[in-house]
Amino acid sequence: SKKHKVTVVGSGNWGSAIAKIVAENTKEHPDLFEEEVQMWVFEEETTVPKTSKHYHAGSKFSTQPHKLTKLINHFHDNVKYLPDIALPTNLIANPSLQESVHDSSILIFNLPHQFIGGLCDQMKGHILPYARGISCIKGVSVDSEDVRLFSESIGDKLGIYCGALSGANIANEVAQEKFSETTIAYDPPPMDSRNPTPKATTPQGPTPSSSQLDLSVINEHKDSKGKTSKVKLIVPPSDLAPIDHDIIKTLFHRPYFHVQVVSDVAGVSLGGALKNIVAIATGFVAGLGWGDNAKAAVMRVGLLEMVKFGKMFFSNNVQTKTFTEESAGVADLITSCSGGRNYRCAKMSVERKVSIQEVEKEELNGQMLQGTSTAGDVFHFLKARGKESEFPLFVGTYRILQGEVSVEDLPDLMEGKKK
Ligand code: NAD
Ligand code: 13P
Repeated sequence: SKKHKVTVVGSGNWGSAIAKIVAENTKEHPDLFEEEVQMWVFEEETTVPKTSKHYHAGSKFSTQPHKLTKLINHFHDNVKYLPDIALPTNLIANPSLQESVHDSSILIFNLPHQFIGGLCDQMKGHILPYARGISCIKGVSVDSEDVRLFSESIGDKLGIYCGALSGANIANEVAQEKFSETTIAYDPPPMDSRNPTPKATTPQGPTPSSSQLDLSVINEHKDSKGKTSKVKLIVPPSDLAPIDHDIIKTLFHRPYFHVQVVSDVAGVSLGGALKNIVAIATGFVAGLGWGDNAKAAVMRVGLLEMVKFGKMFFSNNVQTKTFTEESAGVADLITSCSGGRNYRCAKMSVERKVSIQEVEKEELNGQMLQGTSTAGDVFHFLKARGKESEFPLFVGTYRILQGEVSVEDLPDLMEGKKK
């Protein structure tokens, strides 16, 4: 029977770590997956850094810039974004987006959220119509009118179903195979043919084989805001194992990376997106030299605002227990507010008295903070809805980033005492 081909779209710090995991699993499960995993790389010229174990003075790789894909495929190491981690040899870096997603039934989206919209536009028409996606992106798609989950905007743009993966997962730790947990939310509309009967969308010409037969099913689906609508999805060929909770778990679970599969897509996605704002606030107070008690206070208020945001804008479908019991909720909040990039850069910005953007540029070597733009997007959305006063920590963090108030004001801001 047919096997699933897997592509990871993105190859940054987390993109490369996740690609390593799925390539390890496709190799271990040849009955379900093609062994080779494609990883789309945003191509750039780079040299092997002096700190890399692949740096050898005098070698042409070390002295001259090379294409990042060439370096990854030569050394099996993403020397720029995940250095000194051995990547499986069945993971292939590919600079062509359309080529890398060609014929893949499972698409994993893992890159800074700023770029996903444009990439989906380029992918349209080049993916399998029955592909399914998992978004590992931590962010929300916001304009002044609306807030949406990236999993849903990816799904809508590409006409596929897309779930979400999020958890307490600092990429370098996961890549070093230090134990962690994660949460995957996957809740596609039913694929059975009872409601209504699937119809062949290739009515003319020679009778297609079962794997060529394109079947679409229109079923009712409740989205993350509780709105029920008719969703059209293409049924995968019957000789391909269904993409269900079991297969998703098989693709991501490792002895060092334990996966819990749930159905609350909004809760999982919002946990990953909103904790980035809280991590910046926690970094700010740590930068002042305030202690663990202050950090815990910021985390407490942050968690409450995360749950409130979910309930207010994503209906009661969002489950409080996703925030309080799953890795994607409280555990991600704790790890991100202890050692994440948003936390660390915010702390350094206060210590050095420079902007967080300056620290990002100096310290992250091309990696990108997600919390700064999420804080701005969420602020503008709350303002448009007239709800600023109900989210004093989110709003206060944005105002500190803007230089309107100081970090010392945060305790009062959090209590809504200071305007
Ligand atoms: P990253 O911070 O390493 O970002 C760099 C990546 O962005 C590189 O692959 C670079 O090639 C790419 N890039 C730069 N310009 C681009 C462009 N114009 N178009 C497309 N790509 C471009 O990225 P990451 O750490 O892999 O983060 C991806 C997502 O995973 C984010 O939403 C992040 O919040 C989330 N996440 C990160 C971690 C972590 O520890 N790094 C852990 C869990 C989740
Ligand atoms: P940062 O992007 O702040 O490093 O957070 C990493 C993360 O999401 C850990 O789960």
